[in-house]
Amino acid sequence: MAKVNTDPKKTPMPLLDAAARARSFDEVAVGYSDSDAANEAARCLNCKNPACVGGCPVGIKIPDFIAKIREGDIDGAYRVISMDSSLPAVCGRVCPQETQCESRCVRGIKGEPVGIGRLERYVADRHAASESRAERPAPNGHRVAVIGSGPSGLTCAGDLAKAGFAVTVFEALHTPGGVLVYGIPEFRLPKSIVAREVDDLRALGVNFMTNMIIGKTLTIDELLDDGYEAVYIGSGAGLPMFMGIPGEGLKGVYSANEYLTRSNLMKAYRDDSATPIMKGGSVAVIGGGNVAMDAARTALRLGAEKVTIIYRRSEKELPARREEVEHAKEEGVEFRFLCNPTEIIGYTNPDDRRDPKNGFVTGLRCIRMELGEPDERGRRRPVPVAGSEHEIPADTVIMALGTTPNPLIKSTTAGLEVGARGGIIVADGTGKTSKAHVYAGGDAVTGAATVISAMGAGKAAAKAIAAELL
Ligand code: FAD
Ligand code: SF4
Repeated sequence: MAKVNTDPKKTPMPLLDAAARARSFDEVAVGYSDSDAANEAARCLNCKNPACVGGCPVGIKIPDFIAKIREGDIDGAYRVISMDSSLPAVCGRVCPQETQCESRCVRGIKGEPVGIGRLERYVADRHAASESRAERPAPNGHRVAVIGSGPSGLTCAGDLAKAGFAVTVFEALHTPGGVLVYGIPEFRLPKSIVAREVDDLRALGVNFMTNMIIGKTLTIDELLDDGYEAVYIGSGAGLPMFMGIPGEGLKGVYSANEYLTRSNLMKAYRDDSATPIMKGGSVAVIGGGNVAMDAARTALRLGAEKVTIIYRRSEKELPARREEVEHAKEEGVEFRFLCNPTEIIGYTNPDDRRDPKNGFVTGLRCIRMELGEPDERGRRRPVPVAGSEHEIPADTVIMALGTTPNPLIKSTTAGLEVGARGGIIVADGTGKTSKAHVYAGGDAVTGAATVISAMGAGKAAAKAIAAELL
């Protein structure tokens, strides 16, 4: 084996300057150069029993692809990754590696783990630049419908198409990609990367039908009657949650889903946008996950003077990826921890009902919190501190409190069982639902989760569908 790089730290990821990037939608992380990648690959010990692989939800053969980088065989590295993952350029950018593969890497015991995600991204980007495309396989004569074009639907469609199935993806929105295009912002995941993945699937023969809402335009039973022999539901969890506090109907209050979709997909930052968005002033984002970080950093880029994240627990409990929190701080996002809104306050002019400012948000009434006893998940429960009510001025309020699966498909599909939280019930490891020939996976089953787990579910279901039909 070639010499190991003993540096305890990861080779740093080159980033755009914080002040400049806070006002631009350009990708923040620039990506490894060839020499950065060679340096980082040389930190891998090529372990005989690699713990990192057990931490990857789709079991990518991590030491094997890193060994290929060391040999300078980038196409070989790409082939190794592609055996288990169909979206490496996406996963290399957005997977929470720090809680998955990298959390198990032995190099993490006495320093930082190998930058597995950074290397995965490097391989995918280098491969993309080489323009080689998969070949269309021979058809096997079977037809499958996929509902939703997020990572779960795309993965299921890709695996089935590679096995020769004629696959049609039905997508409610006008652009395929799911959260990868309408949720995660351009500065973390450029849309050209998702478009390329979709083009690769088209090259494999996958047919995309956009503006098709299953449950409205067509039902699942109609798809089955129309000759689709199996249906995969990858419709995600797009229904936003609110707090149920007074003032949520005021103008200037958005769900993070709406705010990010308007910005990412509907280009609301343009002056000529058909669906404009409130851009300036003071923005308050409620929540502490990745979605809250994305909404806050988007607000800065849209021109907000001040952006504050309000989170009811302490910094330690923030569910967002550490890296995203650091990037948000560097860009100037402020944080108010142990703080919870109890009401959203609006402007009313009692003397003039036609005053154009009537009904717009002016701020939040909040209460300070302290951490009490742990809840059922072991996280200390936030408890209000009596007498600590105070107001925070805001022109825009964004609720980033999580999402649940949309009930539309359930309500229009007889025999499809869902759980108490709206997730479709499936058999473990296959994605089989309670309805014959219908499979499901991703956020539609688990509720809001991760790209890689949605992909893993799409993969497992593709395998089960092939086993049923071939
Ligand atoms: P989705 O990506 O939600 O795709 C579902 C698709 O189905 C959508 O295109 C939707 O329009 C379509 N659809 C819905 N209903 C219908 C219907 N009736 N008919 C036809 N089509 C329908 N995960 C990470 O791993 N890392 C991150 O950094 C990260 N950041 C995130 C940031 C944001 C802002 C958000 C919202 C999520 C983030 N996630 C992240 C979570 C991750 O994106 C999701 O877990 C993942 O996209 C789920 O994939 P999916 O395919 O199940 O669903
Ligand atoms: Fe390389 Fe770390 Fe995996 Fe070992 S655990 S093979 S050092 S990435």
